[in-house]
Amino acid sequence: MKFSYCPICREKLSEKNIGDEGLVKYCISCERPYFDSPSSCVEVLVINEHNQVLLLKQNYISKTHWGVVSGYVNNGETLEEAVVREVLEETGQQVEKIQYVESYYFKPKELIMAGYIAFVKERPFNNSNEVDDLKWYEIGEINKYIARINNMSGIHFDNSMRLLNL
Ligand SMILES: [Zn+2]
Repeated sequence: MKFSYCPICREKLSEKNIGDEGLVKYCISCERPYFDSPSSCVEVLVINEHNQVLLLKQNYISKTHWGVVSGYVNNGETLEEAVVREVLEETGQQVEKIQYVESYYFKPKELIMAGYIAFVKERPFNNSNEVDDLKWYEIGEINKYIARINNMSGIHFDNSMRLLNL
């Protein structure tokens, strides 16, 4: 995100030479640099003890396709904590084990997305308002439903399957 004004004190930012980073936007009042960094997100493939994959229908993202769990990382939490929290919030599933897969850069929204697999034991759904529908899919049927256009769900599913040899 490119800053012009300080989000804390609202003063116009100047620039400061910061080591190897070169010229960086800087608030003189707050003595704080603002790097042109993407927002941090997690992208999570949830898989249960029957090797079924949990997909979400979120109409604000796509009216036709299903995606994996995703969400912004809160300031103060680790990527792994964000994975556990987002899976619980969006699906009601309790994460038992997580595995890192790969990261993705999502240009349209300037996001850096850390991709994980979350292993769960199937529990009743308890989804947030942001989730319109939830369903366990067999791995072989995922390709018919998963979002691949303007969405990282498809590539994250592919990479996860490769990693798990499924
Ligand atoms: Zn400031």
